[in-house]
Amino acid sequence: MGWAMRVGIAGGGIAGLTVAWLLGEEHECVLLEARSRVGGSARSFPVRLGGETVAVELGSQDISAEMFPRHRRLLSLLGYTAADVRRIPASLSLTRDGERVPSLVTPAGEGADRPSATRLGPAWDAVNLFLDRAAEWHDRDVDWCVPLAELVEPLPVSDALKRDVLYARPASLFCCDLEEAKELSARAAIAFYVGESADPPWEQLAPGLESLAWALAADTPRLRVRTGAALERVRRTEGRYELTDSTGVSHLVDEVVFAVPPPVARDLVAPLAGTAALCEVLGSFAYVDTAYALHLDPAYMPADERHWATTNLSVHDGWCESCDWYGPVHGVDVFKSQIAHREVLPDQVLCRADFRHLMITPGAVRAQRRLAGLQGRGGLHFAGNHTNWVASQESAVTSAIDVAGRIAPDAPRMTRLTG
Ligand SMILES: Cc1cc2nc3c(=O)[nH]c(=O)nc-3n(C[C@H](O)[C@H](O)[C@H](O)COP(=O)(O)OP(=O)(O)OC[C@H]3O[C@@H](n4cnc5c(N)ncnc54)[C@H](O)[C@@H]3O)c2cc1C
Repeated sequence: MGWAMRVGIAGGGIAGLTVAWLLGEEHECVLLEARSRVGGSARSFPVRLGGETVAVELGSQDISAEMFPRHRRLLSLLGYTAADVRRIPASLSLTRDGERVPSLVTPAGEGADRPSATRLGPAWDAVNLFLDRAAEWHDRDVDWCVPLAELVEPLPVSDALKRDVLYARPASLFCCDLEEAKELSARAAIAFYVGESADPPWEQLAPGLESLAWALAADTPRLRVRTGAALERVRRTEGRYELTDSTGVSHLVDEVVFAVPPPVARDLVAPLAGTAALCEVLGSFAYVDTAYALHLDPAYMPADERHWATTNLSVHDGWCESCDWYGPVHGVDVFKSQIAHREVLPDQVLCRADFRHLMITPGAVRAQRRLAGLQGRGGLHFAGNHTNWVASQESAVTSAIDVAGRIAPDAPRMTRLTG
């Protein structure tokens, strides 16, 4: 398209800002963000440590060059270098209700600088059986609509280990309870453990993942970002769209990109004519409420420091909640914990926030497929981590490439990011 369009984008997470960055050299973009900051689920909290301020993640945290190739390319196009990436010496501990010591402590990954003691045994045997079956399902390309229970239940493992170990990690990742974990898409639950890049080195971005959102905004010449301005109403008028934000300002645009969670997008498109099928699809993504805190108190860590892992799972009351230990990454004992279902909250809380997390169920996979077929109709586009693969930084960037490619396939930044 040889003329400049006006593109309205709702949502200032990584997806919305990547769309803006891809289009905003040639096209006028206005981005409306409900919160006072951009970044969405990427929220980095500055912590002052021994004369230095480090960015500690409260929301999205882990990235991987191997699993997230487009995300990594975007980082390098924005000037991030290898020095900005810190490798996590990943390990996992799992403590079940009533246990004083963890049932499982896996070996610390490369780069660990504190002594650790592994605890393997039956839980570890169960995990290995699970991983073998997961690799087989990946190789057979089993449909993503098959639930996790169909992978786990036939394994020759006790019911207690299935529940408290095999369903525990997916339950924590997707913030659901142990019963609900059975209903997750099996392929989504195993996606990070199988395939050519199985068990990749996981990393964190030293300046914080939120910095990527600000960098995208700063590097987009024809972008106007309005924070504290939620998109409240979308109206069709004379072949264009009028977007009204929560400050009462209206914006006339040619194309609209909804880079907001699908339930929010559904409410916004519902008043428009001809959107019944779209609303049904957007309404079929399931979310769970959760809460995270950053704290200094090792309340949820194993009692013996030699059992401390980078991710520490506590299985309790039908839930599995994680406590991530940032010590091996930042050199100081800051912890990020899921706190939605804990009986006792930690002391020395630095900050906390509520999030809504997408559950990748077979229903969500079907909704992703149907949404792909409805993209772009009438100038309405949908970006965000929910549109493809497994709700990650990579799926947010992939969704942005997809949407920007429909709006302006020849935008020069498209080739730079995907070429
Ligand atoms: C707690 C948590 C931890 C995660 N950890 C990881 C991780 O470690 N690694 C990983 O790869 N992924 C992780 N994810 C997945 C994460 O969602 C993606 O990585 C990515 O940040 C999502 O980007 P997004 O732009 O699609 O959505 P979001 O980041 O959710 O952005 C949506 C934006 O829309 C805004 N908004 C909502 N309504 C409106 C409105 N009406 N008008 C305007 N704006 C609106 C919101 O305020 C938000 O800023 C995590 C997610 C959560 C919730």
